Amino acid sequence: MVFKSKSKIALDTISEHMSELFYEKRLSQTLSILNNLGRKLIGSDRCSFWCVDEKSDMLWTMEAHNVEKIVIPKGSGLVGYAVEHNETLIVNKPYKDERFNKDVDKQTGYKTKSILVLPVTNSKNEVIGAYQAVNKLRGGKFKKKDVKSLMLPAVMLGKILESQMLYNSAVEDQLTGLKNRRGFYDFYETYIVSNLSKCRNSVIMCDIDFFKKFNDTYGHNAGDAVLKHVANVFRNNIRVDDGVFRWGGEEFIFLLPNTDVEAAAQLAERLRKAIEDSVCRFEELELRVTMSFGVHEASAELNVEDNVKSADEMLYKAKSNGRNQVQK
Ligand code: GH3
Ligand code: MG
Ligand code: MG
Repeated sequence: MVFKSKSKIALDTISEHMSELFYEKRLSQTLSILNNLGRKLIGSDRCSFWCVDEKSDMLWTMEAHNVEKIVIPKGSGLVGYAVEHNETLIVNKPYKDERFNKDVDKQTGYKTKSILVLPVTNSKNEVIGAYQAVNKLRGGKFKKKDVKSLMLPAVMLGKILESQMLYNSAVEDQLTGLKNRRGFYDFYETYIVSNLSKCRNSVIMCDIDFFKKFNDTYGHNAGDAVLKHVANVFRNNIRVDDGVFRWGGEEFIFLLPNTDVEAAAQLAERLRKAIEDSVCRFEELELRVTMSFGVHEASAELNVEDNVKSADEMLYKAKSNGRNQVQK
């Protein structure tokens, strides 16, 4: 029988997961591998990786072993405390700790007996998430050396989360919060290119009518408010699988996987009507705009630029036909 030292086992565990990571490109899978690495290194029953969402002031589990996705208000529970104070916590009697949020156990029916929380920081040392291990298997209590063992996966998780956040801000349009043109190309590459041979997919290009005159009449800030309003109407009227992007200025573009031209034209008509019927309140004003839409079913024969061009030609037709309409 060959005996392995503890550090040899740890190194084996790390290298086994590292080789998986090397080949894994999807974010969720990468997080899951790292999460499991941490769990094995310290021998805990459960583990989860929490992310700080500054926009909604919530904390949520990006990846959790054996647990459903959990969302809690920022600052609540032991994870909230560790994040807020940038402090590592080892709590071996959580029910005796007033910071512990018992609601999660109540909801899940799980009994938490010990917890370790390690804040995860970005390169500016700001806390952007946390690594949480629950219920130490052997001995039942987390110790300081478990924190050391978690350092490597926690640092890597931080790097991955930070690069994901940087990517998200690079593909986001600051004014409307929609994805920008770069986001459009990424979406096309990921969800449309591989789909073209399998099913029908459509593109909608649309543009606010007489927006220059609108800005001249009400001012640029009112124009910006309308752009945000239009983005909200769009967000509320599409399916989760559809993509909507700010193409530039007052032009927006949609990518609709698994949607033929007829269904896309119906959606465009719904969007047109929703915009026409809606009111954007800005200061004392009640602002209204209309939009024109061009619909094109993406062709596998054409590259992305030419598929966009065809949708744009339909938009041009809608404009020259009198605006506030859909052309396909
Ligand atoms: P058409 O119906 O033919 O589309 O006429 P239009 O006036 O909308 O088209 P045009 O291309 O002449 O003008 C677009 C205007 O959109 C000009 C510009 O001032 C305005 N615009 C572009 N980007 C923004 C923005 O970020 N904020 C605001 N407020 N206006 C913008
Ligand atoms: Mg316009
Ligand atoms: Mg335009």
